[in-house]
Amino acid sequence: MVGMSKKALLLSSWYLPMRVLGWQDAVKLVYVGNVDVLAEYAEEIRSPSVTWKMPAVLRQRRTVPPRALGVKFSRTNVYLRDKYTCQYCFRRLPEKELTFDHVVPRSRGGRKTFTNIVTACRPCNARKGHRTCDEAGCSPAASPSTQGLAARAYPGRRIRRAGGVGAVSRRRRSGLGAAGTFATRH
Ligand SMILES: [Zn+2]
Repeated sequence: MVGMSKKALLLSSWYLPMRVLGWQDAVKLVYVGNVDVLAEYAEEIRSPSVTWKMPAVLRQRRTVPPRALGVKFSRTNVYLRDKYTCQYCFRRLPEKELTFDHVVPRSRGGRKTFTNIVTACRPCNARKGHRTCDEAGCSPAASPSTQGLAARAYPGRRIRRAGGVGAVSRRRRSGLGAAGTFATRH
């Protein structure tokens, strides 16, 4: 009989700890086939036709969109997605020098979600202020989304978006000061 409190640790394809799962979710992942089981409990799960060892440690075979994994919106997850790099001037900075920017400002109804928040250094954030990107003449290096987060959270994954963060940042390294060089993408 499986203890109802049994948990399983999910690792990324690069063996980084991702999250702790309840045993039901762990079994579901094994059943779907997206994971390899690295360690098992002694306990067994029985259905009328199948008996499984209870999974203890799982490793993802490939990346899973963060929404499917329930990745929560947080400051740290935004920084991770954006590689701790200001999306306007492309400087990579320590966390304490970063903040996040509402692409559509709060005063215009912009929400605090992965699709409206990008990492920004404090000077760029202050310069953009409560303006939209069109008004400020800038645009973040990459359209904010959960896609980048998946790429950061699972380093093995390549960014598939054409002109990913790296390519764009080389083109636009001059930052907000050279607003004319920013293409707007909305
Ligand atoms: Zn900046």
